[in-house]
Amino acid sequence: MDQDIRSWFAENSEGIREISQKIFDKAETAFEERESAKIIAEYLSSYGFTTEFGIAGLPTAFRSRAGQGQPVIGFLGEYDALPGLNQGRDPYFTGDSAKNGHGCGHNLLGAGAAAAAAALHSALRRQGKEGTVVFYGCPAEEVFEGKNKMVAAGAFRELDVALSWHPFHLNFAGKAKYQVMDSIEFAFQGLSAHAAVEPHLGRSALDACELMNVGVNYLREHVPEEVRMHYCYLDAGETPNIVPEYARVLYYLRARDRNTLDDVVARVKKVAEGAALMTGTTVTGKVLCRGSETVLNERLIRHLDGLMRQIEFPEYTEEEKKFGITLAENTNLSQVKGEFSREIMPITGEVIYLSGSTDLSAVSQIVPTGFIFVTCFPKGTPLHHWACTACAGTSVGQKGMLYAAKVLAQCGYDLITRQSLLEEVKDDFYQACRK
Ligand SMILES: [Zn+2]
Repeated sequence: MDQDIRSWFAENSEGIREISQKIFDKAETAFEERESAKIIAEYLSSYGFTTEFGIAGLPTAFRSRAGQGQPVIGFLGEYDALPGLNQGRDPYFTGDSAKNGHGCGHNLLGAGAAAAAAALHSALRRQGKEGTVVFYGCPAEEVFEGKNKMVAAGAFRELDVALSWHPFHLNFAGKAKYQVMDSIEFAFQGLSAHAAVEPHLGRSALDACELMNVGVNYLREHVPEEVRMHYCYLDAGETPNIVPEYARVLYYLRARDRNTLDDVVARVKKVAEGAALMTGTTVTGKVLCRGSETVLNERLIRHLDGLMRQIEFPEYTEEEKKFGITLAENTNLSQVKGEFSREIMPITGEVIYLSGSTDLSAVSQIVPTGFIFVTCFPKGTPLHHWACTACAGTSVGQKGMLYAAKVLAQCGYDLITRQSLLEEVKDDFYQACRK
């Protein structure tokens, strides 16, 4: 690791831990992350960054810049929490399902990416090296809308390379493709009536939603295995004695590639139309997000993998090890093991296909993008689970965050100081886009 980056982390780690904990306590959900965004922007301004809020017209999206000239290295941070995933910093369930929580560890993600930006800028300034460091504050990842909207509005295009990471239960330099995902809100309009006195006059929008879901559940057998279709009700009527005239159901539809997903979406829309026909209602489908495939950058993956192997892993105290074991026991899930992974998954010729999705894929379509997964939870801990929130609030998660920040800062430094590396990364991007 560069000496200036190393000493920056030695002197500044407490501040990073602090902001990750402040964001943990705020636990603001998608598009509500006003305080969380401000915490990161203020943190970066204390290191000489200037911030512009309202990217793509989103009040909680921002860009913080420091330094000057070429190349321009971007660090992408998220900070949205999840509804209902509230949990304390304990290895047993203490959550309040009426409250939000960082069940995906985005408090660590945002703080770690900001720290990487601050560390890189400090090292460049100290060494009098040219290069611009940009931190993009990306809201609403959990609803897959932040970066998609930002890309559509022209964000990220000034970057030579974009870097990010995600807290996880293993370590990996990200030769992994996420699923392409569309999110569509189906709204049914019927007719209200007294549900006991004159039900024959009513046309139930809720019935339509239910029939649509039945139809989609039958469709499951006839789509490729990796396709995911899930839904929840947004509106489902107010009271049983009124035939619900309006109901909405939100669908997330996912597939490995855009063509397969287009086919699935078209079939789900037909199911919705069928449900409307059966119930005498009308339906409209509003696409909230249209996802992209992940473009992998092999050169960047190899470099990140090398850095992950060079930079020293966190050591865990006896207390932290005990926390992991107790947490694992209390999840009652056999897949959760008490220990923290210290191995780095090898990069092979094979691409790993993940079941989940991220709006980071939209960024990977327009600039070379590298991302790593870093251990912040015990092995096997599922995301969007109270155990994940618990770790995101403790030193266990913070250790992964600091390790990730060091890897990303050093990667940015190498891209700025080794022109041949940057050229190879860009060349790889153009090759991948041509495929
Ligand atoms: Zn996440």
